[in-house]
Amino acid sequence: MTDWTPVADAHGAVGRVPLLLDQVEREAVPEAWDELWDRLCLHGETVSAASFAALPRLAALAPACGQALELASAIVRGTLRHPDGEAALAGCPNELAMLRELVDQWLRTRPADYSRLFGDLLALAGQYHWSASMGDFADDFFAVSCPDCETEVTIAVGDHGCYAAVRDWDQGDTERRPLRPAQVEDMPDPGRWMHATADRDGQQRLAEGIRHVFGRAECPACASVFNIAEAHTTANLPPAIETY
Ligand SMILES: [Zn+2]
Repeated sequence: MTDWTPVADAHGAVGRVPLLLDQVEREAVPEAWDELWDRLCLHGETVSAASFAALPRLAALAPACGQALELASAIVRGTLRHPDGEAALAGCPNELAMLRELVDQWLRTRPADYSRLFGDLLALAGQYHWSASMGDFADDFFAVSCPDCETEVTIAVGDHGCYAAVRDWDQGDTERRPLRPAQVEDMPDPGRWMHATADRDGQQRLAEGIRHVFGRAECPACASVFNIAEAHTTANLPPAIETY
């Protein structure tokens, strides 16, 4: 049993979430789901201790309830935004594995909002920064720092081209250099797994985007060729949380 007494939700309330969960466990009440979203994943991103405390109950509902699966996944996407998020998830590995399997099954049906659900899958697999930064590759940009000269390089992957460039306020992307996509057989994980999943589900644009992001770029300033995913991961690791 979760001890709810000290667990505050996004609005500082301690008693509403358990009551709302009781309610949705009995019957589907749209207002109750709206309030759960508001208290557990405010604006789709703000998580609190109550969010993680609610995960096991949401996971239990998830096989029969898309609302529960979406809310649980959204909470997991917010893991790194809460200082105790990773520790909380470490306490429910079975629930996480089940949620991941449910989202994976959903992706196999090729839903219209595939790229959002793919982001959920990445978070459930612990790939939080990829979950936060990857779109659908219609018009994606990443800012990375060249590992050799530290110039800020814009990586563009989208319908308008796949290139490294120096972004200029007035002139846009200048000194464009074509990206060098990875060969599927050379890609390390998580890129290999991400590509295989998108490819399995017929998401060719996403699969091609992943091949580019896990490939290499030439720095327009110093011409050194670097691994984009490594530079991106370095740029997006969460700051160390100070504990006393
Ligand atoms: Zn450089």
